[in-house]
Amino acid sequence: MASPVRLLIVGPQGSGKGTQGVRIAEAFGIPVVSTGDVFRANVAEGTELGLQVKEVIDAGQLVSDELTSRIVRDRLSKEDAADGFLLDGYPRNLAQVMHLDEFLEGRDEHLGAVLALVVPRDESIERLRARAIDQGRADDTEEVIANRLAIYESETAPILGVYGTRGLVDEIDGVGTLDEVTERIFAALEARGLAPSAAASA
Ligand code: AMP
Repeated sequence: MASPVRLLIVGPQGSGKGTQGVRIAEAFGIPVVSTGDVFRANVAEGTELGLQVKEVIDAGQLVSDELTSRIVRDRLSKEDAADGFLLDGYPRNLAQVMHLDEFLEGRDEHLGAVLALVVPRDESIERLRARAIDQGRADDTEEVIANRLAIYESETAPILGVYGTRGLVDEIDGVGTLDEVTERIFAALEARGLAPSAAASA
């Protein structure tokens, strides 16, 4: 049995990380844990958590680190994450990196790679505008888009410095077709000896 593959995918909004994350996770047969998806599903269902976070999300701000980290810990403690996982959208700042470190260390688990999708700001903005028209997300308005990208640059980008010093970061050029970007990601993972098992990709 292959050893568990634990991955992070990081990139500005509009970098395609959600789509790429799903592709990578499917190939490895591991669950995607997307904090944004968890929050959106709760908002859509009108759960207590959804009511609690709706305003924050609609404004493009970050949900509190404690709440977000608790949700991630609960999710990663489920059985299907025992053989690996791909985290999308978490950690989002240095405090969350510490929370994740603590959780993984407590379980003697380690990350295999941090995939950093690199997309120029103008291109991200263009893609987010297109998605706003397509999906009508409340957090894809012009003002909120600018807010989210600013938060990415000030709070999220620094986490790559931390993971970089641990030798975990693979920068992936996120400009190109979906397939081109997926191929770049697989190539980077393979270079680390992380290849989807034949069973998972069959
Ligand atoms: P995303 O789809 O990853 O862009 O997430 C959508 C929204 O959910 C973000 O703009 C935040 O309001 C919230 N969110 C998602 N992940 C996190 C996180 N790790 N920490 C705090 N807030 C988050």
